Amino acid sequence: MDFRPDPALDDFRQTVRVFLGEKLPADLVQQTIAIFSSRDAMRRWQAILNDQGWGAPSWGTAHGGTGWSVEEQLIFEEECTRAGAPTLDGFGHKLLGPVLNHFATPEQWEAHVPHILRGERNWCQGFSEPGSGSDLASLMTRAERRGDSYVINGQKIWTSNAHRADWIFLLARTDPEAKKQAGISFFLIDMATPGITVRPIWSIDGRHHLNEVFFDEVEVPAGNLVGEEGMGWAITKFLLNNEHATTAELPVLKAYLGAMKRLAVTRSVGDAPLVERSDFLTQIARFEAELGAVAVMVQRVAALHGDTGHLAHALGSMLKLRATDLQQRMSLFLVEMLGDEGALASPAEEQGLASEMFFRRASTIYGGSSEVQRGIVAKLMFGL
Ligand SMILES: Cc1cc2nc3c(=O)[nH]c(=O)nc-3n(C[C@H](O)[C@H](O)[C@H](O)COP(=O)(O)OP(=O)(O)OC[C@H]3O[C@@H](n4cnc5c(N)ncnc54)[C@H](O)[C@@H]3O)c2cc1C
Repeated sequence: MDFRPDPALDDFRQTVRVFLGEKLPADLVQQTIAIFSSRDAMRRWQAILNDQGWGAPSWGTAHGGTGWSVEEQLIFEEECTRAGAPTLDGFGHKLLGPVLNHFATPEQWEAHVPHILRGERNWCQGFSEPGSGSDLASLMTRAERRGDSYVINGQKIWTSNAHRADWIFLLARTDPEAKKQAGISFFLIDMATPGITVRPIWSIDGRHHLNEVFFDEVEVPAGNLVGEEGMGWAITKFLLNNEHATTAELPVLKAYLGAMKRLAVTRSVGDAPLVERSDFLTQIARFEAELGAVAVMVQRVAALHGDTGHLAHALGSMLKLRATDLQQRMSLFLVEMLGDEGALASPAEEQGLASEMFFRRASTIYGGSSEVQRGIVAKLMFGL
């Protein structure tokens, strides 16, 4: 790998900045570090990006994407976060999109991908169940073939954004007799289908983004099965492999550092601004150094994209461990910088920092818990 600065990337960053300056509508600019923008903001911004030809920043040109390198994608995300642009629908873009580009029939691709690019359809991910999270292959939701349809019965949980998603991509068991991974299939389901019930779960961050989703005799056309019956596990491994370089959420870490530097001059202890306290400055410098190390790891993982070997897999896990730990410590420190006002948990108050800190408690759980990541590293790197 070559870590020297590439002038072409500076030009690219400048192009993105100019675009954001010209095309990001003022009323869409977010004042807080947001995990999910409103559905309306997401859709409007996606349509603007698509008009620019940037509707799918992480896909190849063959599928209607930008063809940007991973470095360019990271710069784009960083500049968007810095400018306060709405978030994209990551479930459609980063998780489902590559699956459809790789596994969908031409009919399935036509039926879904243009809607993702134009921002007309939001997705959610129906994998986890009450008894199946880390051990996902034990899932029990059943899909039974009846004529030209599958009938789905079961329950999903922790389904982010299910209450505002138009469609869900879902894992269900088509063959209860087969070895557990072999009996799983991957479906695309319209959330308006009769028999689907969404119940909210309010989380400690004071927000509603999580849900339970119940399926009661939900009839799904057989044409909504992606790949063959029983291929769901292979598709899931492909989908999760695409996640690695982005689990670090580097733009968010950089936004935290920016907020720390701002608060250091605007906040005081007694009469003295925080910036005059050497203990604060030392801590911020430590965070900056750790962030730099995570940024290098992101590049390493990105450079190994598509590599299915042990090292690439273990590095992805190490990156998730390091970056999510840093997210938690940095967001907690931001709250501490606010002093007594840090106790305000509402997303609207104090730039939502307390809410953000509470949300980040979950980052060492979703996308594979830290304990499971450590198990992967121990097994792949040390043969334990
Ligand atoms: C904010 C948030 C958003 C989420 N969004 C989605 C979503 O959109 N769609 C979706 O499908 N799911 C989603 N999830 C679910 C997430 O994927 C699961 O919570 C996660 O996989 C852990 O599963 P679990 O909650 O069932 O915990 P469990 O798997 O029951 O784990 C419980 C504890 O045991 C530990 N543990 C489990 N197995 C091992 C092991 N082999 N070795 C060591 N320790 C182990 C875990 O680390 C954990 O501490 C979300 C979760 C959160 C918190």
